[in-house]
Amino acid sequence: MKNQFDLKFVEKLVNSKYGIKAKAIQIEGETDDNFKMSNDDNSFFFKIYPAKTKIEFVQFQTKILKNLECNINTARNVFDKKNNFFSHFIDEGNDVRYVRMNTWIHGRLWSSINPLRSTIREQLGFKSATLVKDLQREKLTYERKDFHWDLANFEWIKSYYKKIGLNKKYLLTIKQLLDNFKKNRKKYNKLRKWLIHNDLNDNNIVVSNDLKNPKIKGFIDFGDSIKSQLINELSVTCTYGIVKSLNPLKSACEIIKGFHWVINIHKEEIDFLYDLILMRICVSVVKSRLNKKLNSENKYLQISNNDMNILFDRWSSLNKELATCFFRDACSLSPISNEKKFKKLIKHKRSSINTLFQNSDLRNLKNLDLSVSSNWLSNELINDVDSFEKKINFEPNLIYYGGYMETRVVYDSEDYEKLTDSGFENRTTHLGIDFWVKEKTTVHSIEDGIIKVLTNDKTIKGYGGLIIIEHNIENIKYYSLYGHLSNQNNSKYKVGDRINRGEKIGEIGANKENGGWCPHLHFQIMLTLLDFEDDFPGVCMEDEKMIWSSICPDPKLILEMQTNKNIHFNENELKNLRTRFLGSNLKLSYDLPIYIVRGFNQYLYSNKGKKYLDTVNNIAHVGHQNINVVNAAKDQIGLLNTNTRYLHHEILSLSKNLLSKFPKKLSKVYYVNSGSEANELALRMTSLYSKSEKFIVFEGGYHGNTNKTIEVSNYKYEGEGGRGKSENIYEIPMPDKFRGKHRGKDSTNKYYKELEKIISKASKSDEKISAMIFEPIISCGGQIELPSGFLKKCSKILKKFDILMISDEVQTGFGRVGEKYWGYELHGIIPDIVTLGKPMGNGHPIGAVVCSEKIAQKFDNGLEFFSSFGGNPVSCKIANEVIKEIDSKNLQSNAKKIGKYLKESLNKLAKKHSIIRDVRGTGLFIGFELVNDKLVPQAEKANYLVNRMKEMGVLMSTDGLEKNVIKIKPPIIFSFSDTDRMLTLLEKVFNEDFMHKG
Ligand code: PMP
Repeated sequence: MKNQFDLKFVEKLVNSKYGIKAKAIQIEGETDDNFKMSNDDNSFFFKIYPAKTKIEFVQFQTKILKNLECNINTARNVFDKKNNFFSHFIDEGNDVRYVRMNTWIHGRLWSSINPLRSTIREQLGFKSATLVKDLQREKLTYERKDFHWDLANFEWIKSYYKKIGLNKKYLLTIKQLLDNFKKNRKKYNKLRKWLIHNDLNDNNIVVSNDLKNPKIKGFIDFGDSIKSQLINELSVTCTYGIVKSLNPLKSACEIIKGFHWVINIHKEEIDFLYDLILMRICVSVVKSRLNKKLNSENKYLQISNNDMNILFDRWSSLNKELATCFFRDACSLSPISNEKKFKKLIKHKRSSINTLFQNSDLRNLKNLDLSVSSNWLSNELINDVDSFEKKINFEPNLIYYGGYMETRVVYDSEDYEKLTDSGFENRTTHLGIDFWVKEKTTVHSIEDGIIKVLTNDKTIKGYGGLIIIEHNIENIKYYSLYGHLSNQNNSKYKVGDRINRGEKIGEIGANKENGGWCPHLHFQIMLTLLDFEDDFPGVCMEDEKMIWSSICPDPKLILEMQTNKNIHFNENELKNLRTRFLGSNLKLSYDLPIYIVRGFNQYLYSNKGKKYLDTVNNIAHVGHQNINVVNAAKDQIGLLNTNTRYLHHEILSLSKNLLSKFPKKLSKVYYVNSGSEANELALRMTSLYSKSEKFIVFEGGYHGNTNKTIEVSNYKYEGEGGRGKSENIYEIPMPDKFRGKHRGKDSTNKYYKELEKIISKASKSDEKISAMIFEPIISCGGQIELPSGFLKKCSKILKKFDILMISDEVQTGFGRVGEKYWGYELHGIIPDIVTLGKPMGNGHPIGAVVCSEKIAQKFDNGLEFFSSFGGNPVSCKIANEVIKEIDSKNLQSNAKKIGKYLKESLNKLAKKHSIIRDVRGTGLFIGFELVNDKLVPQAEKANYLVNRMKEMGVLMSTDGLEKNVIKIKPPIIFSFSDTDRMLTLLEKVFNEDFMHKG
């Protein structure tokens, strides 16, 4: 029993016994009284054992620490004044109380770390194995009969678990565990026994204070150490190391991998791991229920109860056999034990594709690439079964097949997706081969066998009609799976029926009965059914494919078909090639760059099939690879692509459409290939118009990568490597009401005065200024909204001095700002020139300059304007289609609606996380700042945030002069659910240590 000693008493006690003056703080413990003792120089751990503690136990504890002097992750015994490892005093009840002290391990507890990533889990495994190895240096034992925390004693639970109000699932699980344990007791008893720590729970693991990449610093509390099965140690470590993980199996494997690195885990031990982890979870829950009854005030005793209940649900719902395959893989064993034997067997016991489809003409088989980067599978085919079928049947003599271990994008129904520690993840990798044969094609068993499953899978994009047959050849069992058959209700077979090799078992199903697919056979081989009863996965997570390829070997081996080798690049190869061929200031995004191979609406897909929600690419305005835009491009490029020196209708049709979006004053258009070129041309036009090369620009403005546009881009010339401001440039300070030179309410006037100052100074010295170039919302500068009324005020004085206004709408144009079609309209002004780029071609390079008749006339001074590519029929057709998409799908109003919701949601999030400030922007052109309470920009946190969001499947970017602004400018098809998804993950990251601690 604990005593709750007076802290002053403890301090005196420590001083008298150890000669150390230190302040005491009580720390929670199960039965002992524990204290942290600190003074200016040092901290110590001090323990008072309960009365009646056996001296042998105290000796055992100190000997453990002595034994571990070689281990850098454990504390050292501190001698008392008499040079003893422990001491004692007599308490008020006249009992002897043993005390001991050891050094303090500085750091945080594992339980407080967020996020727990794979690196630290592997390290936990590695270090815990090192610890247990070091524990064996000298033979130490301490007999503890019937110790409840020894998993070898699990049966103690039998007398308690039914009496403490556990739910049915717990009762069933514990009963099952007891039965299994009894059945396998002999094998278990034979496993090696070591002295183990036995309690590396999340409050006994000390982790460094590094918030980004924390490391394991030490292990404490050897109070539960015993000699027991070594595998119990790993089971306990796993149990607490995976608490709170959304994918506990993967997390456990990380720990196991690290452990196995140091201590080779035996096959026989692996077989017990799943149950032992579940046993430890149950012991923890049962103990905490019992303790609650006995000792209701001690909160420590119930700490992990909630988390354990959640872990219980997650762990107990895993497939035990599958989990064991994962463990074997983590221990460098083949996930399936008879994989080798099977592969040997089928070398002389093959079947054939002719057996599978007895009557089909199989002469013309062709491999079909449906991988993420497949050119064959255009986006429009992904959700359009009819078009897919048409294409599949385009060459009637061909039978397409393929797909084993192919990572695909077609599995996008809810059934394939789950929220994991790495964000939303889809099962994407195909485990069988598809044969794209026609509906009603007969299907035959590849080998003698017994029907194990005969059912109709009703899930969307599931198997539809499904048969699984068990084969037992030369005492090796395997299974063949036939999916997407016709409805099985009228099958003449039932489960348990014997089937002969070549016997017809069914027919290929039509779309309505095969799970909603174009007719085909999904054929798969499995070496086990795992614990599935009337289903079996046909698709797995990409990062689990090595394990699944062992469970489901390549069916081509059995069907005697060629195995295709697809050539794929990996990220490292690509990075190396970039270094070799490209200039090093061509930068990649993110700490670990991603290899993107497909775009589809608001998503980008990596080569590994990872789906990224894209909030960065405002160029893919109406969606990546928008089907209508792609088709427009395809139609025109096959017909004609020349320059503007011939008559053509497309450039005129585009000009008419484009100019209809502008007021009458802006009536002429010039086509170029990029935003930079558009601005370059605009600057040239204004120079000619006013015979001056002097320009007014904004701090933070960016207008392009050509010489002239860099000269007017403060963001670049003042940025790293920039040449600084040229003499002909006049700057208005960043009109930022939040952190700019002038803040708050009167900022409109104050920024206006800055312009006034520039103009009056220039006019005093007779300097003619040509134009002011600006963005209606300053994008690269950090999504800065100009103060209200500011531009309107500016326009008057600019007009007065005949200074032209160039509105750079490269980012803000085409409905993105929601409220209006163009950004300048937000300010109630009409500029003299508007420049366009990025979204205009939805990824295709096209830009434009729109100006008044008068400016166009002055520009025509005899020098011909010609751009080889500007205004070509393909670009014009594409831009026309983009405008059509925005109009026909009401995307401007979508930007307004979703932008409003996004802003509101971000403001709500900002209430919970004070680092988020000044959510700003309009429509789907939003930004927010990350600052501390003194408004100091938090660039490192912004960088951390976008990298973490990327890992979780959302692409975001930082910008602003101090790189602390998170910019959100997705394709304007972005939806409410996209917003919710992004917010869910943002909230997760904002809760991580690096974002709010330190
Ligand atoms: N103006 C603005 C506002 C821009 O954001 C950009 C590109 N980031 C440009 C001009 C230059 O466009 P491009 O990269 O197409 O040359």
